[in-house]
Amino acid sequence: VAPPPLFTFDDSYARDLEGLYVPWQPAGSPAPRLLALNTALAAELGLDAGALAAPEGVAVLAGNAVPAGATPLAQAYAGHQFGGYSPRLGDGRALLLGEVHDVHGRRRDLHVKGSGRTPFARGGDGKAAVGPMLREYVVGEAMHALGIPTTRALAVVATGEGVRRETRLPGAMLTRVAASHLRVGTFEYAARSGDPGLSQRLLAHAIARHHPEAAEAEVPALALLERVAEAQAALVARWMLVGFIHGVMNTDNMTISGETIDYGPCAFMDAFDPRTVFSSIDHAGRYAYGNQPQIAHWNLARLAEALLAPLSGEAEDAIPAANEILQAFPARFDAHWRTGMRAKLGLAGEPDGGVADGLGDDLLALAQDQRADMTSAFRALSAAARGDDAPAHAAFAPEPGAFDAWASRWRAALAAQGADAVATARALDAVNPVYVPRNHLVEEALAAATAGDLAPFETLVDAVTRPFEEREGLGRYAEPAPAAFAGAFRTF
Ligand code: AMP
Ligand code: MG
Ligand code: MG
Repeated sequence: VAPPPLFTFDDSYARDLEGLYVPWQPAGSPAPRLLALNTALAAELGLDAGALAAPEGVAVLAGNAVPAGATPLAQAYAGHQFGGYSPRLGDGRALLLGEVHDVHGRRRDLHVKGSGRTPFARGGDGKAAVGPMLREYVVGEAMHALGIPTTRALAVVATGEGVRRETRLPGAMLTRVAASHLRVGTFEYAARSGDPGLSQRLLAHAIARHHPEAAEAEVPALALLERVAEAQAALVARWMLVGFIHGVMNTDNMTISGETIDYGPCAFMDAFDPRTVFSSIDHAGRYAYGNQPQIAHWNLARLAEALLAPLSGEAEDAIPAANEILQAFPARFDAHWRTGMRAKLGLAGEPDGGVADGLGDDLLALAQDQRADMTSAFRALSAAARGDDAPAHAAFAPEPGAFDAWASRWRAALAAQGADAVATARALDAVNPVYVPRNHLVEEALAAATAGDLAPFETLVDAVTRPFEEREGLGRYAEPAPAAFAGAFRTF
């Protein structure tokens, strides 16, 4: 009897969206070795982790075998990169292996990255290095554990091949799981294809897949725009509340599903400063921490244009409605941000526009003044709620008196809410993480992994996948970056 197939595919993208992909095969790896396997995610997908880790499974993860029933393809998309339009990006080094249904019945993409050049590769080599693929794994898992919608890594394999970057680096492939890989840039590509039928098929596919209730609307394209605006407002607010900087919010890196995608130059902020940029290619600071809500808004305007283009005749009436949706974005973002900030202060019971709004802004202003580590500053609030201000004084070290002045207002707000200290501290520890993938720890883990030692990577994954639970032996994972590291760090 033949073993059951590893995957059961149901490829709706390939069925629905001819014209938005090129069937393609992975290049393969000379000497694959499994570096990381996400057994929890495998279980969620209904996949047999043991079979994935066996040679037949690794062969698939390494591009040496295409699983039975799979028809891999490179997706076409366009995108605005740093504000300028590129008509043809697409999967230059990645393939959609296929779609599976997970144990909850949700459709999930299985996608390999670093699988060789495709017709969209332009000047690229089609390959990926161990460091960036493990970075995507650990940061994505951290985001997931923080409750932030994200694509996730199922596995990373070393290919056994060198890749040429600034130096020669060990190569790797990542297998990524996503609700879909539909991007704003997918709509931009379809809108400019000259085939309104393609845009209509894409619209129907995206609605069926992510926002089915939009199909009932009078103008489904507008309903989709509104749902994506809502998903992105919620998403970017969650990023901001944990100090996450995406780093390359081009329209090809913004999903329709509302999942975070493309962990290239991303980073968690150490010292709080809205101007923070980690990517060395972002010279103008377009994608700085504090700009992320406005960039999401700008990207949604590009989505609106792409959605309206194929409506032609009907578009006249749709333009004012689309503008209304776009104009409402800052308020949508703000509502998510304020709700999240109230929770971070233990004031979840406070109404919108209440005392908590000013408290959040003021604490951040204080953090910025004192270059306080964002993660530590918020984590210190649970101890402060129990009456122990020492962690907060350490986080706001240059001027602990300024924290005390803020804290007396904060305590008055907590008292007015009537919650007891133990419950408040517990609620704070459930939203303010103790462990995030701090840049110096990520760099250390990736450098060790590149040199062949996976232990620091595995410890970091363990820390950040239970981010709210302070544990023995992980003390240095909760510490801010050493001063020497803080200023000059670049992800990319
Ligand atoms: P990104 O900046 O990661 O969003 O990628 C932008 C575009 O460059 C996408 O079309 C990628 O597929 C493509 N790309 C990035 N790196 C490579 C590479 N090494 N080889 C081929 N294409 C690449
Ligand atoms: Mg990308
Ligand atoms: Mg990338």
